[in-house]
Amino acid sequence: MTGTFAVKLEEKRYLPDPRFKATAWTPDYTRAYQEFMRDPDAFWDRIARELVWFGPWDRVREWNHPYAKWFVNGKMNITYNCLDRHVTSERKDKPALVWRGEGGEERRLTYDGLYREVMRFANGLKSLGVGKGDRVCIYMPLVPEQVVAMLACARIGAVHSVVFGGFGPDALAMRINDAEAKVLITADVGYRRGKAVPLREIAKEALTHTPCVEKVVVLRRGTPAVDLDPAREVDYADLCREAAPDCPAETMDAEDPLFILYTSGSTGAPKGIVHSCGGYAVGTYYTARHDFDIKETDVFWCTADPGWITGHSYVVYGPLAVGTTVVIVEGTPDYPDPGVYWHLVQDLGVTIFYTAPTAIRMFMRYGDEWPAKYDLSTLRVLGSVGEPLNPEAFEWYYHHIGGGRCPVVDTWWQTETGMHIITTMIGEAMKPGFAGKPIPGAVVDVVDRQGNPVPPGTGGFLVIREPWPAMLRTVYRNDERYRTYWETIPGCYTAGDLAVKDKEGYIMILGRADDLIIVAGHNIGTAEVESALVSHDAVAEAAVIGKPDPLKGNVIKAFVTLRVGVSPGDGLSAELARHVRKSLGPVAVPAEIEYVDRLPKTRSGKIMRRVLKARELGIDPGDISTLEE
Ligand code: ATP
Ligand code: MG
Repeated sequence: MTGTFAVKLEEKRYLPDPRFKATAWTPDYTRAYQEFMRDPDAFWDRIARELVWFGPWDRVREWNHPYAKWFVNGKMNITYNCLDRHVTSERKDKPALVWRGEGGEERRLTYDGLYREVMRFANGLKSLGVGKGDRVCIYMPLVPEQVVAMLACARIGAVHSVVFGGFGPDALAMRINDAEAKVLITADVGYRRGKAVPLREIAKEALTHTPCVEKVVVLRRGTPAVDLDPAREVDYADLCREAAPDCPAETMDAEDPLFILYTSGSTGAPKGIVHSCGGYAVGTYYTARHDFDIKETDVFWCTADPGWITGHSYVVYGPLAVGTTVVIVEGTPDYPDPGVYWHLVQDLGVTIFYTAPTAIRMFMRYGDEWPAKYDLSTLRVLGSVGEPLNPEAFEWYYHHIGGGRCPVVDTWWQTETGMHIITTMIGEAMKPGFAGKPIPGAVVDVVDRQGNPVPPGTGGFLVIREPWPAMLRTVYRNDERYRTYWETIPGCYTAGDLAVKDKEGYIMILGRADDLIIVAGHNIGTAEVESALVSHDAVAEAAVIGKPDPLKGNVIKAFVTLRVGVSPGDGLSAELARHVRKSLGPVAVPAEIEYVDRLPKTRSGKIMRRVLKARELGIDPGDISTLEE
């Protein structure tokens, strides 16, 4: 069994306006890729020199399979690149962060303002005894202070572990203990759908099981301010007020750890991924600038929470290293109504918008009239990340949000990769359903179990062949788990996803290797069947699983949510079956379709097929700590 299989590929393409290509940071993908392949070290050396280093590296990379070092012995601090180097330039008074709250409140911090806040808070952390290498857990709502806290840790060399503010006490305690965090930074409350989420109360519960935590910093937002426990808790504002204003950036070795972050837990227990300072800074800076083509006047909005890797790399470190204006919003995409994001795009003049397929499918479900109410003409680039962007969702995003003008960059990457690995560079032809090609800087392939490349049109395992700067360095306190990434398929990094290439080298993600369905000897990726279902007008979202069958080995069961106003009337299932048969053929037709109100998802919005499967088969779903309520 090689694990490979035939896939039917569509060939639709969209060509962006040639002006995008003419002005892009990477104006010629093919040339850039060739330049990278000719001399990868020279390629990364040139990019790394665009950042400020305190001391030079001896070698660009050292590869001792499965361990990589990048910018060996180079000295730097990522916050110097996100802050100091901007405040000594014309960007000093440029907005760095524009925050909007659910009630429409706004806060703006210029680069200079952010720099000052970070330095004060960094000194505050020092006064609590936090130093280089200490772990700090950040459990906050999406407010500027969350970003300040991350940067303050990085400034003094403390390793942050950000826990999404939607997690409960057990998930928080697990992450605090795993990282042995000394300090926890939290807030009294976060706001979600008009309600206050009692973060401090949740944290208190978690803290009954976390002996490692010495101090808790609390950002007090509510009025009247909550009383703090003087033995353990410190007020965020007091800490900053009492701290000295200047805090030079700590000199970090390129390979010193920058942060620990847990994966989304879609396919199993979350893994504590460790990223390092130098390579991560270079990789996120480069991909933010080139893949979104960020220009000086752009207003960049990535809707992810900094509690996920997307927020780390493309809310905080990448865009700030580039020096762009970053929009952050506390709230949900359909509260108070499903037009709230488009209202914000209009109000803030957002030019680059980066979100997840789960949100796009949700907007589609609510209908075209919501975005149509707003002026979205400032948008120039759209991005997607997190799950396969179904062709139907691509079309909707491209036409209804991008007005048919904006390139859509579907970025494939992972918590582990730290930075984008596959996308369609701005200006290149886009193919709905395909993420695109490896970025200049990454060597990607689709292979069988032995690591042999498979031909175009054949599905197989997605792998990365060479180390890249922002790659994970280990899994925290579980190096064995780290090694399995590089030891599962000989010589490659195994991503755990299934993919297929077309003749031009465009890559389509077919789903998770763990979720592969084998029907009557045919391998079927979940994404193909789901996309076929989603392409039907009645369907908003779909998830498919394999169900054991005595005859066929497995049959496909589909779980489907319908668009607003559609009900599963007579004959819909038969029609959906016909629809899938037409696009994918008889083996891919679901034997069973169940209509549900919602699909189980991680808190980062990814469908958890293993939960559906466990429910269906009455088996243990495994670790469901990241399951949305
Ligand atoms: P866990 O590893 O704990 O199961 P996870 O893989 O969902 O969780 P993340 O690192 O947040 O954790 O997500 C990375 C995964 O998301 C990828 O392996 C891939 O399956 C999916 N993904 C990300 N971007 C894309 C994309 N553009 N197209 C298709 N899939 C994507
Ligand atoms: Mg994963």
